[in-house]
Amino acid sequence: MSLIELKGVDKTYLMGETKVHALKNVQLEVDEQSFTAFVGPSGSGKTTLLNLIGCLDKPSNGSVFVNRVKVNDFSNKEAALFRGKNIGFIFQTFNLLPVLTVYENVEYPLFMVQNVPEKKRDERVMKYLDAVGMTDQKDKYPSEISGGQNQRAAVARALVTDPKLVLADEPTANLDHENAFKIIELMKQMQRDLGTTFIFSTHDPKIVKEAKIIFNLEDGKIINKEILSNGN
Ligand code: ADP
Ligand code: MG
Repeated sequence: MSLIELKGVDKTYLMGETKVHALKNVQLEVDEQSFTAFVGPSGSGKTTLLNLIGCLDKPSNGSVFVNRVKVNDFSNKEAALFRGKNIGFIFQTFNLLPVLTVYENVEYPLFMVQNVPEKKRDERVMKYLDAVGMTDQKDKYPSEISGGQNQRAAVARALVTDPKLVLADEPTANLDHENAFKIIELMKQMQRDLGTTFIFSTHDPKIVKEAKIIFNLEDGKIINKEILSNGN
């Protein structure tokens, strides 16, 4: 079985009296250690799909399996535990906590979900700050560094718990092209070095080409899957 499997997944939101069909009968498998993109215009269902895989939301119909576990039966508490152990998130707006330094932001998940002892925590934080090239910025606050550097720190924060899976919702949308490519390259490098599975969403055609597997979404449906042979 794949790392992720969705079977007959529908997601309907109620907006007042109107039903919004955000996902319609989605079937999907994502292999372990892959570098996968969800691609489609705004409103096509990318965020909804990532939220279901990330156990942040539940489908209206169908099943979501992550690491062979049916995650849509989880209680909120079970979902939070599973997320903490298995999944890292990178968001479009970086979402670093402004009152914490870069170091403290990266350290935060180790307090929150994994209760790692102090010495080990420091080793882990420094390892990932080094991996993303942010060691010399570690004592700065998010407002004191660039967007690209914020996003590098967000990558370190997503990886510090050694998750099997990293979900990145339009991680390049607030970056210029140079920094966008750098972040994608960094995620790819982490996928190669650590064997982490990455799924990111985007609607930027230039960024899309960096993925190895692409699922194209339109109007809540997966319209096709592409496998790119981009030389990596
Ligand atoms: P994308 O990330 O591709 O822009 P979304 O997954 O955010 O797409 O949205 C898919 C559809 O679901 C859109 O029509 C959007 O308006 C709707 N939608 C998303 N979240 C909600 C919500 N919480 N309540 C109502 N409608 C929503
Ligand atoms: Mg979105």
